Amino acid sequence: MAEPTLPTEIHLDIVTPDRLVAHDSVTSVTIPGKDGYLGILPGHAPLLTELVAGELVYTREGTKQFLAVNWGFAEVLPDRVIVLAQSAERAEEIDVGRAEKAKVRAEERLKRFTDPQVDMERAREALRRAMARLETAQALKK
Ligand code: ATP
Repeated sequence: MAEPTLPTEIHLDIVTPDRLVAHDSVTSVTIPGKDGYLGILPGHAPLLTELVAGELVYTREGTKQFLAVNWGFAEVLPDRVIVLAQSAERAEEIDVGRAEKAKVRAEERLKRFTDPQVDMERAREALRRAMARLETAQALKK
């Protein structure tokens, strides 16, 4: 009996509540999973993972593409990855000034940890989003 052939590409979809951010055939994807960064090549075992704010990188035609994603889920299949994210921006779409302001705002809130008015977890999440955007935008400078 013939051996089943392994897929050589991954069909990647990245979707947010507002838009389809990516719909591409890619050769690798790295996603920021809850338990750390997860590298995916064609033929990967199926899994479902929660996403955290971080950098998603994929390779298309030998070129790396960088995106900042916020919380969500990813479904991995041997020839397909579907990312459902609360927000996702390509590196070139990121407004660095806005992310820097969001980072400063979150840091100021976190300094007021004795103030019961401040929702610490919300501030921490805002900081993670801002850091993910700034880190992703840096990829354009490399
Ligand atoms: P801010 O306080 O600056 O609004 P935020 O982290 O609260 O930042 P989100 O709620 O994560 O913002 O995102 C709201 C919308 O704005 C999303 O569509 C997201 O893609 C977009 N967005 C947020 N920050 C940026 C940024 N720095 N550059 C480009 N788009 C951004």
